Amino acid sequence: MSDPFPNSIIIVGAGIFGLSTALAIARRHPSTQVTIIDRLTPPVEDGTSVDTTRCIRSDYADPIYARLAAEAQRKLEEDPDLRRHYFKQGMTFVTDGKPGPMLDIWKKGLVNLKSQGKQNALVDMPTPEAVYRRIHGQDAHIVSEEALNCDRKWNMGYCNLEDAFVDAEECVRVYYKRCLAQPSISFQCGVAVEKVCVRDSRATGVILENGQTLSAELTLIAAGAWSNKLVYLEGLSASSAIEVAWLKLTEDEVAKWKNMSITTNLSTGFNIFPPHNGEMKCLRRSPGYRNTVSIPHPEDPSTVIKTSLPRTMITNPTDLIPADGEAALRDNLRELMPQLADRPFDRTKVCWLSQTPSADFIIAPHPRIKGIHLAAGGSAHAWKFLTIIGDFILDSVEGNLDSTLAAKWAWGQKGPDGGSSPRIAGDTQELRDVVRSRL
Ligand SMILES: Cc1cc2nc3c(=O)[nH]c(=O)nc-3n(C[C@H](O)[C@H](O)[C@H](O)COP(=O)(O)OP(=O)(O)OC[C@H]3O[C@@H](n4cnc5c(N)ncnc54)[C@H](O)[C@@H]3O)c2cc1C
Repeated sequence: MSDPFPNSIIIVGAGIFGLSTALAIARRHPSTQVTIIDRLTPPVEDGTSVDTTRCIRSDYADPIYARLAAEAQRKLEEDPDLRRHYFKQGMTFVTDGKPGPMLDIWKKGLVNLKSQGKQNALVDMPTPEAVYRRIHGQDAHIVSEEALNCDRKWNMGYCNLEDAFVDAEECVRVYYKRCLAQPSISFQCGVAVEKVCVRDSRATGVILENGQTLSAELTLIAAGAWSNKLVYLEGLSASSAIEVAWLKLTEDEVAKWKNMSITTNLSTGFNIFPPHNGEMKCLRRSPGYRNTVSIPHPEDPSTVIKTSLPRTMITNPTDLIPADGEAALRDNLRELMPQLADRPFDRTKVCWLSQTPSADFIIAPHPRIKGIHLAAGGSAHAWKFLTIIGDFILDSVEGNLDSTLAAKWAWGQKGPDGGSSPRIAGDTQELRDVVRSRL
């Protein structure tokens, strides 16, 4: 006979994994007491789930994520509170056209879209002019190669008009308020969890950084890029960060670009969002940065391990993105949005993520310690599953997760990223060696 469902659950982390799981538990098991613990009050400013924008799209090459993302997007569109922060303006995927894995992913995406028979959702842009004019209008002229002083990289693209973006911070606020309204959910925010208490290979709760002990029958680690401080994840999921920057726009610029699509270049990793609240956000799916620190081994505190953990705008508020990251963002702007290429950024940050080699999430019981469940490894593409992921995490806790998903999200080393969340090739850099300071 399977174990009865826990009477008390601690969820470490109030990002999309943690909040959506808490709501799923409140629906299915209203008598179970859920305590959500977070370093900060949601929406957590430096959490991965909180940002001005996130893409919502179902055009994955992987049929499982494609199906789940379509379902999650439908639920988001049906949700009256989330829908207010949802903007269906399409997403344009561009490539430099050079042979390689990114061109293969780009081609696969286009073939998939065509095979779904969604011809009305597809805008073909076979030339650099077509890519540029989709943003700047039919009379616009691309920047010459002499002016660029390098090969063009925004050479061919297509837009999927079914894709959308959300105001991620506002959507997280919606879920936070929903959790607050549930009698079975409480929050403990402002102090981090120091470690999970384990006795005889069974977790009994957590110890906070202020020394307070909280007990529960089950502890769900949904701590995103911080998860590897609480559970040993070497080789399974690594904490790394990529650069993000915002540019303030004039009213005329907002009017000119307000209907553009999210526009991304798979070859360069660059991604730019339409104007939102008077600004544009751009980022780069770069090899990224790590912040290596020494911490006690989560399963054997008598030994020390080296691992990467977030260094954020909260812990290091004067940090500015590294010079090479800024230069790469500006190189892309110079070709795609030349008006903005030399404009000072309003603000920048590195955004931390919990990256698995395959870009598959880890949603599974701890293999060695009873009473710990993990929901992490968002790998820069989990936000869009907000509306459905909590139910899957709860299925996993109950031992009822669909076997295909259970295998996909199992605790263990899997293959390389098949294109679910492609990042450009290269090694991560140690952030402290390259970060700049505002002071
Ligand atoms: C730059 C960037 C762009 C992205 N773009 C997209 C996109 O367009 N579409 C998409 O679908 N996905 C996208 N993603 C991925 C998506 O945002 C993440 O996969 C998702 O938000 C991860 O959620 P989470 O709940 O795991 O982590 P988080 O939101 O980081 O939540 C973890 C929480 O745990 C808390 N915590 C950590 N340690 C402790 C502790 N010891 N004690 C107490 N609290 C703790 C943290 O404060 C945090 O609030 C992007 C990611 C990045 C970095």
